[in-house]
Amino acid sequence: MLWLGSKLGTSGPTGKNGSVEDLMYSSLISKIEKAKRYAEEPERISFRSFEVAFRGDNGTHAVSLKGDDWTCACEHFHTSGLCAHVMTLQRMFAAHLTDNARYTQEHVPA
Ligand SMILES: [Zn+2]
Repeated sequence: MLWLGSKLGTSGPTGKNGSVEDLMYSSLISKIEKAKRYAEEPERISFRSFEVAFRGDNGTHAVSLKGDDWTCACEHFHTSGLCAHVMTLQRMFAAHLTDNARYTQEHVPA
């Protein structure tokens, strides 16, 4: 695909290979095709961090991931280090999480 880039760098129509617009269009098409293929391989994408608003049965909680560390604003997470909100996100985005972020152990209360 490198040749496409070098063609695009030239100015004006390129003659026998079609116009610059055609090349840009085919380049865009190839990107869309690539995006479709990538989208079917979710393991290519891993979240390094994110933050969501989780509407639970008992209220909305801010849940965030930074590296492998989860944080939830709910009471249960505060006392045990794991909660239904984090567990839900671990299930939903399992393919996008590192092993450490995917399998958080609940802290045993002292
Ligand atoms: Zn929670």
